[in-house]
Amino acid sequence: PAEPQLQALQHADVARLLPVPAAESDKYRRGVVGIAAGSARYPGAAVLAVAGALRGGAGAVRYVGPAGPSVIARYPETLVSDRGPRHAGRVQAWVVGPGAGDDAATVAEVLAAEVPVLIDADGLRLADASAVRARRAPTLMTPHAGEAAALLGVEREQVEGGRLAAVRELARRYGATVLLKGSTTLVAEPGGGPVRVNPTGTSWLATAGSGDVLSGLAGSLLAAGLRTVDAASAAAYVHGLAGRFGADGAPVGAHDVAEGIPGAWRSVV
Ligand code: AMP
Ligand code: MG
Repeated sequence: PAEPQLQALQHADVARLLPVPAAESDKYRRGVVGIAAGSARYPGAAVLAVAGALRGGAGAVRYVGPAGPSVIARYPETLVSDRGPRHAGRVQAWVVGPGAGDDAATVAEVLAAEVPVLIDADGLRLADASAVRARRAPTLMTPHAGEAAALLGVEREQVEGGRLAAVRELARRYGATVLLKGSTTLVAEPGGGPVRVNPTGTSWLATAGSGDVLSGLAGSLLAAGLRTVDAASAAAYVHGLAGRFGADGAPVGAHDVAEGIPGAWRSVV
């Protein structure tokens, strides 16, 4: 029989993927996630990515960028630095891009790291395609339809009308795992194979900053050691549930989505 093109994410599979710290674990073994996000103009993107990352299972969240004071005010447990990613110390996976504005140098520095990197939002526009393809460690890209269209050089409508083809083509072109956000979130791997479909979303998630929370959450799962496709899938699944749990079916703001993550997680494991 032909290989199925789509594979719906199953609750039981996600339950197995979510990390549980071993009894003898310490914060470094649980993983350190680095967040290179935010700008003077968009400090909130940094706070929201950190908010997602803190609830995703890594042992520590490190933030580099200009929004350190905002991040610390909300999340004092974050390790903050205003120097570049290269000087950040131990990081097992990076998230780069949310609210990054025009800081291409930071994006390039993160892409040079030899650990998994998640690229989102402004980072997708700023990343040099050949630098992405040249990476040896895994890369996860998380565009919405508009960002995917810009990367492919087509109109947004073309992506919306052919989401499966678009996510596969992006994964192939960039040699990266690609999570295409939207009413149904799809995850494709660079080597082809079935595309995973997330069943848990809610259209209340279509709210400013919600994608920033997702990128922090997925980055945290990468730092915790999940395979790239599994980190992307599990993050989408839990984030989708968190959109419902954050406000019990009422409209949510992105911060509510982050605060819904623990309840969503509990409902899965
Ligand atoms: P962003 O566009 O980066 O803020 O990300 C938006 C988040 O909301 C992503 O996780 C999307 O998958 C999710 N989302 C957006 N629109 C919808 C929708 N109509 N139904 C379900 N989820 C959505
Ligand atoms: Mg976004």
